Amino acid sequence: MTPPHPVLGSAAAAASMAALALGYRAGFGARSQGFGPFPYHGSTGARVVALTFDDGPNEPWTSRLLDVLGGREVPATFFQVGRCAQRHPDVTRRVLAEGHVLGNHSLSHAFRRYLTDPRQDEEVRGGQEVLAEVSGVTPLLYRPPWLCHWPWVLGGVARSGSAVVSGTFAHPLEVVQPAARRLTDGAVRRAEPGAMLILHDGREARGGNRAQTVAAVGPLVDRLRARGYTFTTVDRLLGVPAYR
Ligand SMILES: [Zn+2]
Repeated sequence: MTPPHPVLGSAAAAASMAALALGYRAGFGARSQGFGPFPYHGSTGARVVALTFDDGPNEPWTSRLLDVLGGREVPATFFQVGRCAQRHPDVTRRVLAEGHVLGNHSLSHAFRRYLTDPRQDEEVRGGQEVLAEVSGVTPLLYRPPWLCHWPWVLGGVARSGSAVVSGTFAHPLEVVQPAARRLTDGAVRRAEPGAMLILHDGREARGGNRAQTVAAVGPLVDRLRARGYTFTTVDRLLGVPAYR
């Protein structure tokens, strides 16, 4: 075998890297619409935002977060993982009882389950069914783990009768818990009319310490209110039903 021509070889490698990068961006970018509608924003000019929390319930952090939100009378949207809701069903029920909205964030949050169409159906519907058993409502808002919106993911969401939801990461490193002050600063900077700010009260289906996120939320609410913002939930912001 002859080795590839060095120039052509590197051009081909560069081209395939570029194609990969584009595919990744189309399939995972929070704002990319390449495979179909992937709403990341409500269409409003008013100073209103939706705070969203993914990967819970996860104790004691979800309960502490509910205390912070309740103390400030801020409604939020919780995209919960089915397996986590099975671990903490009482916390899932508390989310609803306190006026927040419950969304679906898959059954298991497992990356390998993204790879085929039937598995994706199991993830979307499985999450929906577990959350329905636990809470008594069937969520129709679906935020895919890692915001993956490959065509078969969008297909699975549509087949479940759900609406897919993206958002804006409140801080690019929030998942790994930098200091609360940095999280608050980042989230205040990214807030704009109609934004759905993404934070995490867990990490995938594994739980973990979310102290910095919990500590960031009170000051975030206070600073946004000082700028004239009010808070709503994703279903109201997008004008779609939260439950079947
Ligand atoms: Zn997630």
